[in-house]
Amino acid sequence: MMTRAERGARIIESGGGPAVHHAPSTERELIDLLQGAGPHVTFRIRGAGTWASVTERIRADATLDLSRLSGITEYVPGDLTLTARAGTTLADIAEATRANGQWLPLDPWGAPTGTLGATLATASTGPLAATLGLPRDAALGLSLVDAAGVRTTAGGRVVKNVAGFDLVRLQVGACGTLGILTEATVRLRPLPAVDRSCAIPLPAAQSDLTALLVSLRQIPLSPLAMEALNPALAACAGLPPAQMLLVRVGGSHPAVAQAVEALARHPHTTEIPSSAWPVLSASEPADAMSVRYSVRPSQWPSLWITVCAASDASARVHGTPSRGVVRVVGPAETQHRVQQAVAPLGAVEIAEPAGRGVTGVPALAELGRRVRDAFDPQRRLNPGVMDDGRS
Ligand SMILES: Cc1cc2nc3c(=O)[nH]c(=O)nc-3n(C[C@H](O)[C@H](O)[C@H](O)COP(=O)(O)OP(=O)(O)OC[C@H]3O[C@@H](n4cnc5c(N)ncnc54)[C@H](O)[C@@H]3O)c2cc1C
Repeated sequence: MMTRAERGARIIESGGGPAVHHAPSTERELIDLLQGAGPHVTFRIRGAGTWASVTERIRADATLDLSRLSGITEYVPGDLTLTARAGTTLADIAEATRANGQWLPLDPWGAPTGTLGATLATASTGPLAATLGLPRDAALGLSLVDAAGVRTTAGGRVVKNVAGFDLVRLQVGACGTLGILTEATVRLRPLPAVDRSCAIPLPAAQSDLTALLVSLRQIPLSPLAMEALNPALAACAGLPPAQMLLVRVGGSHPAVAQAVEALARHPHTTEIPSSAWPVLSASEPADAMSVRYSVRPSQWPSLWITVCAASDASARVHGTPSRGVVRVVGPAETQHRVQQAVAPLGAVEIAEPAGRGVTGVPALAELGRRVRDAFDPQRRLNPGVMDDGRS
């Protein structure tokens, strides 16, 4: 007779990854699996597996596939809160909430078939984050299972619930190194009545670029998103291959109409379909290597121009002026060239997929190591992701 742990497991052949593949469909099965495995068995956590460059490079004894641990368990439209199991896809959440004129405004790069658990675990963001908040702001509560198979909860199911140390903020972005997220409660927002977007060609000179960004602050409605694209990425979104700024405005009919009218005063502005945004996110190659640079928003024009000049034509470069961020998606040679060019600007550099943890600040690296020691002393979960303190 099969043990409870065996019921959640099956063996498959998987190219490159561990051959043992567990796909529990309940939290109980997951707990039994972890408690039943030896203390030195390591696990690669996987949601839908869409971000292949992260999951495939984790070397572990077994894969813990959470895609079957899915489904919305509670949705309270009146409170704008939703609770779902970790393997629920962002697409499923979008469909369920749209029916009530609500949305979860997390739009990470990649496909909407990505899971809620992975999006929170990796703190993945997209263009909406500049206005509507980061995954840490959206997560109200979490259920998680640690490396020893012990279940913990953090936060709650209502908007005002934080007392004591906020474990939710620690777990969001920990990339599964401090626990396996099994369920999350998130804060929703009302869907804007009207959602329109425009593309504005970006000027080449730094002073003109700065002047454009300053003038955009005067439009009568704050944009939901504002993302600069290099020619390669503009082409992916179905636009002419030139540097473009996509501006998305949402709200009531009159407010959006006024904002679009103000945007149209910029020469050569065109209105684009809202579908350009998901097309853009989904255009990212599955094995993409990317590096994110950030500076103060006032320095963004200089960062943008420097990065674009150092990247070759096939690299995809995009940036969010209000967050001071520019992200480069391209091969190692491109990344090296950009890194050299950007060095004098003193930008903070984060290589994605997250893999290096905190580097360059010894006290922070030590703190990170001690936090991981407390949650997963054997480094059983996602070994090698973030600095596991042993290299
Ligand atoms: C090609 C591509 C490139 C991307 N690039 C970026 C990027 O550069 N920056 C960015 O912010 N986002 C990026 N994303 C974001 C990604 O879309 C989201 O994180 C998405 O929701 C991934 O979902 P998934 O279920 O397929 O994740 P998976 O690929 O299955 O897993 C992604 C990571 O999350 C961990 N994980 C998964 N589920 C859990 C869980 N329940 N508990 C703990 N850990 C878990 C995995 O171990 C892995 O490290 C990219 C996506 C794609 C497809």
